[in-house]
Amino acid sequence: MRSIPFTTIKEKIKEACIEANHVLGEDVLEGLRRAKEEEDSPLGREILDQLIENARIAREERIPLCQDTGLAVFFVELGDQVTIEGGLLPEAINEGVREGYRDGFLRKSACHPFSRKNTGDNTPAIIHYQLVPGEQLKITFCAKGGGSENMSRATMLRPADGIEGVENFVVNRVWESQANPCPPVVVGVGIGGTIERATFLAKKSLLTPIGQENPDPELAKIEKRLLKKINDLGIGPAGLGGRTTALDVHIMMEPCHIASLPVAVNLNCHSSRHREIIF
Ligand code: SF4
Repeated sequence: MRSIPFTTIKEKIKEACIEANHVLGEDVLEGLRRAKEEEDSPLGREILDQLIENARIAREERIPLCQDTGLAVFFVELGDQVTIEGGLLPEAINEGVREGYRDGFLRKSACHPFSRKNTGDNTPAIIHYQLVPGEQLKITFCAKGGGSENMSRATMLRPADGIEGVENFVVNRVWESQANPCPPVVVGVGIGGTIERATFLAKKSLLTPIGQENPDPELAKIEKRLLKKINDLGIGPAGLGGRTTALDVHIMMEPCHIASLPVAVNLNCHSSRHREIIF
């Protein structure tokens, strides 16, 4: 068995919260640069330039990329040979979030659904656990903005709707969202499982680096087709027109019930922030 101290996990989570909110991932930056080269609209190019400049300022001056520093979402892969010394894993994660959002002066966005009273420290974090074999603990943090999350949807299609039905649902979702999710967006699609599993897969797919091809050739083809259809919508950067509505589309798929075809779309904005920590 391998033992990992509670405080080590807490400190790394704290660093990840601050780092992800200050430094845009190289894959997202590269996606924005590539989009600028291919963008026909002068206004669209100008906005992409501003997003690249915004990322530079945030990185160099150590300030958040966006005022919405997100709900704290975590994907945990916990090795079955790992124990946490000195406390429980969810407490280490929540304590790291508390300290990271406090010390990084990041906006606290978690509140009671009805009274809207802020919880004050951006907890509770949303944590998805997966038990895996081995002695490794992998935690991926996402700062998930409200504007893009609000545009997400899940549905149960009829099995006969097939690939065409899935593609129509995804493209319509992006079209109906217009400028609300702060385009250019990253489109996460979950297909299969049950309604909650499809939604989980859509969110998890957003962790895939921009530009990375799907290992399943059939899904890779659908992703390319969807990206073209979405960029043909003309919504463009910040919704002001142009060909760059999405930087990428990622799909995750699992088997489902013979009577169902669950599909979920989870959108991420251009401030697509995540960090991976391996212990
Ligand atoms: S959706 Fe993203 S870019 Fe838009 S306000 Fe929220 S975090 Fe910021």
